[in-house]
Parts: sequence; C-alpha cells; structure tokens
Amino acid sequence: MDCLFCKIVAGEIPSKKVYEDDRVLAFYDIAPAAPVHVLFIPKVHLAGVRDVTADNAAVVAHIFSVIPQVAAQLGVTDYRIVSNNGPEAGQTVQHLHFHLLAGRPLGGMA
Ligand code: AMP
Ligand code: ZN
Repeated sequence: MDCLFCKIVAGEIPSKKVYEDDRVLAFYDIAPAAPVHVLFIPKVHLAGVRDVTADNAAVVAHIFSVIPQVAAQLGVTDYRIVSNNGPEAGQTVQHLHFHLLAGRPLGGMA
C-alpha cells in the first residue's frame, strides 16, 4: 500500500523511533511544531479516526496506554494529544496518528 506511515512501520522509510511494540510505533515528527513532537501510530493501517470502530478500537486504547509512559520517558508532564481527521482538519498523512506536543505553552485550541 502506498502509505508513508505503513512504509515507516515496515522500515522502508527511516524514522527516529521513541517506542515500539507489536501494535504501536512512536517516532519523532520530521517537522516539529513544538520542542517535543512525537507521532503515535497503530501498525495496522487505519486511514484516520474515521476508520476506528468497536472492532478495532483496542489498538487506540493501547496507544493511549503507551502515551503516558512515553511522555514520562521524555520527561514531560504537560502535553497535548491531537489527531487531525480529513483535509479540512489538516490531515496530510492518511494513516491514523496521534500527535504528542509538549515543551512550550501551547495556547488555546486551534
Ligand atoms: P497530519 O498533518 O496531522 O496528517 O500529520 C502528519 C505529520 O507527519 C506532520 O506533522 C508531518 O510533519 C509528519 N511527517 C511527514 N512525513 C514524516 C516522516 N517521514 N517522518 C516523520 N514525520 C513525518
Ligand atoms: Zn498506512
């Protein structure tokens, strides 16, 4: 499949990994929007939040169990989790991902 993040999961495109297990990969965003900017993705291809269902939501729960561990590992206690879904929301990579942003005052929403 021609998906950038699937290629990162497959190791065909390099990434600076922060965390990996059998279901999730976390790596640094190539264009950080904050001093700490990490992306959390399921290894399985889901196009975005729109693809999450009762049948596959366990991987999302797993990602959210990993996020606080990785945040602690990175030494951040205050952070924002963002997932853009669809072009109007600013989604540019069509593989579900959660941004972890930290390290500066993040201001209000949007
Ligand atoms: P979004 O715009 O919400 O779809 O987020 C996609 C994110 O992927 C952006 O913040 C990009 O900077 C980031 N990104 C794109 N290509 C790469 C890459 N090869 N490695 C790491 N992050 C990337
Ligand atoms: Zn993918």
